[in-house]
Amino acid sequence: MFRGPARHLALVGQRPSFNDAELENAVQEDAATQEMLSLVLEEPDRWAMFLDIDGTLLNLAPTPDAIEVPEALPGQLHRLSNKLGGALALVTGRSLAFADTLFKPFAFPTAGLHGAEIRSATGMHTVEATTEFQALKHALTAEAEHYPGVLIEDKGAAVAAHYRLAPEYEKILEERMHHYAEFAGPNWALQLGKMVFELRPARSSKGDALERFFQSEPFKNRCPITMGDDLTDESMFAIANARGGVSVRVGTIGAPSCATNRLSSAALVRNVIAALAA
Ligand SMILES: [Mg+2]
Repeated sequence: MFRGPARHLALVGQRPSFNDAELENAVQEDAATQEMLSLVLEEPDRWAMFLDIDGTLLNLAPTPDAIEVPEALPGQLHRLSNKLGGALALVTGRSLAFADTLFKPFAFPTAGLHGAEIRSATGMHTVEATTEFQALKHALTAEAEHYPGVLIEDKGAAVAAHYRLAPEYEKILEERMHHYAEFAGPNWALQLGKMVFELRPARSSKGDALERFFQSEPFKNRCPITMGDDLTDESMFAIANARGGVSVRVGTIGAPSCATNRLSSAALVRNVIAALAA
């Protein structure tokens, strides 16, 4: 069962409703998006690509560690990056260090922790966890032992509580994460995602990360193509729309989004990447 979009809909008080016409629409939109992305090959010097990882390049997995990277994908991303003159960046909620392990031996320009960590072509910007935040992570990890199936992911300057395996704890976990957010203070913010609550550095977003990439080559003066599947990706969709670029929301129909295009699955995203890289 695919729970993510239902969760988003719950947040805005809507219910998912699928019918044949909408499904047909989605298929048409997929085709239109694939066709539009292939235009990239006609003018590779014009575009920069910003890609989310989990749920966009890779299928979502029951636990954060269980994601699988198809063997061909790192090489395809590398070839596509070369075609774009290096203007391809990964923009993820994972830590930068973890993102690097996924696509070895390549190290693409990357924004980690929703933009709190950035490695651009020109340099590195990272945030450190404070002593208080370290203590908070320990307290949260100890508390989570009372919620079987809830997984705590320590990302350094961020921490995520995943409840995909234990949805019955959603309510209590939300309350507890609000409590921890208060304790963390104004430098950290509570971020909701697909079956996850996360405390992340407050002064960062994926949209901010894009603006930072645009300050230097090879991204400068290029038009953004953004692809993502979750709430945190909306800020980069907004930047893409404002700069006259392309925003692609990945996933089943129904999730509210400011993206102008859609692809219905990560598998389709990979097909597009493979085609662009060929
Ligand atoms: Mg994602």
